[in-house]
Amino acid sequence: MDLGISGKRALVCASSKGLGRGCAEALAAEGVHLVMNARGAEALEAAAADIRAAYGVEVVAVAADITTEEGRAKVLAAAGDVDILVTNAGGPPPGMWTDWDRADFIAALDANMLTPIALIKALVPGMMARGWGRVVNITSQSVKAPLAVLGLSNAARTGLTGYVAGTARQVAGQGVIMNNLLPGIHDTDRATALDGGAAKAQGVSVAEARKRREATIPAGRYGTSAEFGATCAFLCSQHAGFMVGQNVLLDGGAVNVTI
Ligand code: NAP
Repeated sequence: MDLGISGKRALVCASSKGLGRGCAEALAAEGVHLVMNARGAEALEAAAADIRAAYGVEVVAVAADITTEEGRAKVLAAAGDVDILVTNAGGPPPGMWTDWDRADFIAALDANMLTPIALIKALVPGMMARGWGRVVNITSQSVKAPLAVLGLSNAARTGLTGYVAGTARQVAGQGVIMNNLLPGIHDTDRATALDGGAAKAQGVSVAEARKRREATIPAGRYGTSAEFGATCAFLCSQHAGFMVGQNVLLDGGAVNVTI
């Protein structure tokens, strides 16, 4: 299927590795020019070079912390007018509900709620003026069903989801389509870190912790960044123009709900 977005420009945040990289690759495969971002310059430059070589699209790489005002200013200055925005950043650390104080919540809100909102506010007015745009926010399955050890994530991402639900309906009339993509467990560094925490808590090896987690997923495995990216590219496509403010869950069936 031709997604109809060849020649568009996309900002994909936090995209040197993992799910963000999967989104960047899938968009590049459709002929979309990229602005990629991550904090670590080395891995980012390597990812950008790989994507340029593989897909022949223009890739601007901006090393910056997207969760800070200075970092966002640097990324936005390099990005200029983009047609597609994929918001993403690292997730908050796991812990117990009794562990977290105000500063922990402020950090989680900054990274996983207020950063995407700031990027939306900066880029969506231009998309509306040009009559076309796509926004995909990478959130989490924790929006549909809480993950007890990820209380900071549960809180911050649910806040973003509420904001997007209202905002998506305010901008759709000007051709800007905004949706959220909710990862369940995917095979990335983040998953390895979470498995490390689970292994410690359960007193088992990381491999055993992963095996136990896989057994809770109807698909029987972790998702891949490529699968995730392909869904992201669809949400950024011409074909997604009637899909407004939705929360698309990619979790191998792990969240046991009817709708
Ligand atoms: P990952 O494999 O750890 O990759 C994270 C990427 O984001 C890296 O490129 C990293 O590069 C970049 N990054 C992290 N913090 C950043 C920041 N402040 N500014 C700019 N770039 C930043 O993580 P992932 O698995 O792709 O997860 C992406 C998001 O989805 C996270 O919020 C995670 O919590 C959420 N999620 C993941 C899963 C899963 O199973 N993987 C499930 C549910 C939700 P640098 O470190 O160099 O900055």
